[in-house]
Amino acid sequence: MARFTLPRDLYHGKGSLEELKNLKGKKAIVVVGGGSMKRFGFLDKAVEYLKEAGMEVELFENVEPDPSVETVMRGAEAMRKFEPDWIVSMGGGSPIDAAKAMWAFYEYPETTFEDLIKPFNFPTLRTKAKFCAIPSTSGTATEVTAFSVITDYEKGVKYPLADFNITPDVAIVDPALAETMPAKLTAHTGMDAMTHAIEAYVSTLHCDYTDPLAIHAIKMIHRDLKKSFDGDMEARDRMHNAQCLAGMAFSNALLGIVHSMAHKTGAAYSGGHIVHGCANAMYLPRVIQFNAKNAEAAERYAEIAKAIDLKGDTTEELVAALVAELKSMNDSLEIPKGIKEYEGGIIDEKEFMDKLPKVAKLAIGDACTGSNPRIPTQEEMEGLLKACFYGEDVEF
Ligand code: FE
Repeated sequence: MARFTLPRDLYHGKGSLEELKNLKGKKAIVVVGGGSMKRFGFLDKAVEYLKEAGMEVELFENVEPDPSVETVMRGAEAMRKFEPDWIVSMGGGSPIDAAKAMWAFYEYPETTFEDLIKPFNFPTLRTKAKFCAIPSTSGTATEVTAFSVITDYEKGVKYPLADFNITPDVAIVDPALAETMPAKLTAHTGMDAMTHAIEAYVSTLHCDYTDPLAIHAIKMIHRDLKKSFDGDMEARDRMHNAQCLAGMAFSNALLGIVHSMAHKTGAAYSGGHIVHGCANAMYLPRVIQFNAKNAEAAERYAEIAKAIDLKGDTTEELVAALVAELKSMNDSLEIPKGIKEYEGGIIDEKEFMDKLPKVAKLAIGDACTGSNPRIPTQEEMEGLLKACFYGEDVEF
């Protein structure tokens, strides 16, 4: 038995933000980030539409990137005071992720993060409010997924939350919001989406319902990401849909070790964070080389290669063509070959090697490893991470 869950309603296309007018309820709290939605006028529009819907509106602003436990608790407190029957979250992945966790603590004040991190163990939500998500970046697809990540800065840990209860009720995928993204963010979030689609397609949990979403997303991202990066706004608009399709696939098929490695290397080094999408982009070609040693996974990668018109007579040649194509996409998007070159070399080589055994162990233990088509040993994971540091090919 398997389950496939998506939002009840998804509005897409330019101007779809206006659908907020048609939400039925009494009170809405709008959860947003640091200011770009306000600066570009989308926050004011959203508030206007909700008022037109006859709702009383309150704002919860300034959710930080990589939202903290404290922010979640403050948001839940604000919700308990205001008692909204709609939670409307808007922005990059962070405000939407934060709002999902606030929702749980709003409805269940007694719950704890320790309870919530047990996968698919949430209490039943929607006893007080429904949830609408409006993404402004084209990558995380949190508007359609069952996931959220909250950081406990005091303990230095990330809480990955996973449960279909936090799959939003309504997603509004309006590309006008994504047109405000700068080029670098477009590249990073776009390759995050590409990684979602490819990992979902080869996941051990992929199925007939997730495959068409994943493969179509791959085709679209392959065609449109570079154009979007170069400022083609029609391609940018299509990317907003493509990342959402990828999200529908991976919310139900789950991911693989590219994400395990990106999660555990993201905040591990003193030189600075490695941005999620950029990490995925750098690691993906190496992980494909590693996973393709599994014959079934190799066939799946070959199918992807054929879907984007790459040439090869054998499975092996098709896998190699896919790896080469992804590397060349990275080059064209100005993504470094490996961690060593990341942001001019901010990650120290010695620190990386000193922490290698620990980071490798954590990556193997990550929630995304279980659905990867080949489970790495400690030695293999260390080898993979090293290859990702130097931007080398993987031959084991
Ligand atoms: Fe991701």
